[in-house]
Amino acid sequence: MARRSEPPRAHRSPLRRTLRLVAPELRPQRAMICGGFLALMADVVFRVLEPWPMKYLLDSVLSRLGAAVDHSPATITVIIACGVAHLLVVAARALGNYLATVCFATVGARVAASLRARLFHHVQGLPQQFHARNHSADTVQRLVGDIARLQEVATTAGLPLLANVLTLLVMSVVMIVLSPGLALVVVACFVAFAVVSSCSSGRINMASRMTRRGEAELANTAQESLSSIRTVQAYGLESLVERRFGDASQSSVTQGVRAVGLAAGLERATDLIVGVATAGVLVWGGLRVMSGALTPGELVLFTSYLRTTMKPMRDLAKYTGRISRATASGERVADLMAITSEITDPSHPVVLDKVRGRIEFRGVTAAYEGVVVLDDIDLRIAPGEHVAIIGPSGSGKSTLVSLLVRAIDPVDGQVLLDGHPLDELGLAQLRSSVALLHQDTVLFADTVRENIRLGRLDASDEEVEAVARAANAHQFIVGWPNGYDTVVGERGSTVSGGQKQRLAIARALLRDSRVVVLDEVTTGLDPAASELVLDAIRPLIVDRTLLAVTHDVAVAMRCSRVVWIDRGCILLDGPPARLLAESPTFRAWVQAYENSGGGGR
Ligand code: ADP
Ligand code: MG
Repeated sequence: MARRSEPPRAHRSPLRRTLRLVAPELRPQRAMICGGFLALMADVVFRVLEPWPMKYLLDSVLSRLGAAVDHSPATITVIIACGVAHLLVVAARALGNYLATVCFATVGARVAASLRARLFHHVQGLPQQFHARNHSADTVQRLVGDIARLQEVATTAGLPLLANVLTLLVMSVVMIVLSPGLALVVVACFVAFAVVSSCSSGRINMASRMTRRGEAELANTAQESLSSIRTVQAYGLESLVERRFGDASQSSVTQGVRAVGLAAGLERATDLIVGVATAGVLVWGGLRVMSGALTPGELVLFTSYLRTTMKPMRDLAKYTGRISRATASGERVADLMAITSEITDPSHPVVLDKVRGRIEFRGVTAAYEGVVVLDDIDLRIAPGEHVAIIGPSGSGKSTLVSLLVRAIDPVDGQVLLDGHPLDELGLAQLRSSVALLHQDTVLFADTVRENIRLGRLDASDEEVEAVARAANAHQFIVGWPNGYDTVVGERGSTVSGGQKQRLAIARALLRDSRVVVLDEVTTGLDPAASELVLDAIRPLIVDRTLLAVTHDVAVAMRCSRVVWIDRGCILLDGPPARLLAESPTFRAWVQAYENSGGGGR
């Protein structure tokens, strides 16, 4: 069963949850990260060195012109050396920056890919209840969009931010050494920024997260509408659906505009703070140059440092919104990752040499979110026995058979295969021993041949054709222009219901499982199509254990035993002929079916 495994974790900040999420993916990239960091440090060092040639040049030129500067006077060589030094520093800085960007972008891409693979693996392992309850569009968004956003923001906002903060630290030290008084102005500026940004960043975070959530909602609405487009068109619901889509879109836009507005406000406030600080440094620094405590070159150096150190603050304002959008994405991925599945492989699975197909339900109780739908079921089925499971809709028939492949686990009791509890068998062995066919068979957007081959991936073309013949499918397949190479449409929509079932039967034939479970495979088919499907099933179930959930009397009468489930309990159990003779309920069911015309089959 699926459940969210914590409240405590949900209290953590989105940023911390995001970091915890990617941490395991970062470990294998250690070497690359270290390389990136070294390059980044080189970038920072050269950034700090960058204004020095200019300072040197200015002071030496002024000294040459006779100003009272404590500096050696300029010569042509010094001037040219300053130019060359500047060029070298800029080139080295560019190289460092380039290498850092490449390293971190590589790390970003690798981390995103492995996080995506981990999440996909996780989602695939989640039980059907999760998939029944959740929008697949939402899951896809988390897998593709959210992880891409995390990656993009980490490399385009996170990395520059890190570089800027490092630069800020180093430059602060240099400034304090040069002139502690002036450095005080800079500190005051940081404090002012911290106050202003803490006021607005909470609101920016909130609006940005709402934007991200709104976008996800939008994708769900779109998927829901498009996947039911036939109903929408048939009932003329286009304008209703468009309105819902428009509303979802509008609310996401409103929040987005709000977030951008707030971030822009913070950025301009930061500009103002920087302006005040620069003016302060100019005035005070000018006075100190006049009094000879500072050289003109040092003042230039100082203002240039000031501009560079203020950049992280401006960027922080600019990136706040983007980073919180990204952490909202990280949170969505972490939420999905936090859903746990209790249906897992045992640590030491029992391996069965040969599955015989004996099934036993021992006091099995099954429930969905606490609501009991199967109550203390006891049922033994011998190898090779054919059992029809009948009963009203919602009585628990599908639940009973889904226990056999561990699509869900019982809350009480045990299900056994050949005397082994299912949770002691490996999931792969269990699922290859039990072939489960549903009413809505899914074909993948691939060729017919490959669709059948999914039953056993190493089957040869001849084997595929042989099972297609056995499943009454060969005829219609070769009737298509491309035969076995016909590509079926998305979700199999170009193939009729009966044809789909026969392809699924062919697939199951390849699998050659000892236990076959049919869950209403002929429901919704017309009598002729249903008859073809039943014919096709025959080779599938010879000498196999069969559980057939059905509403079809013909199917029930062909089985050696009928089990009637009503409201989660077994009401009747016996050979059809005996039930017909002894049970008025069963007789009434058969008669009602015949009266409705179903008996014509
Ligand atoms: P049947 O196949 O006999 O029609 P099911 O086994 O599908 O019945 O369902 C039995 C009961 O369990 C029904 O009341 C149904 O609403 C409920 N149910 C089935 N699947 C789920 C699910 N994934 N989550 C919650 N309830 C479910
Ligand atoms: Mg059902």
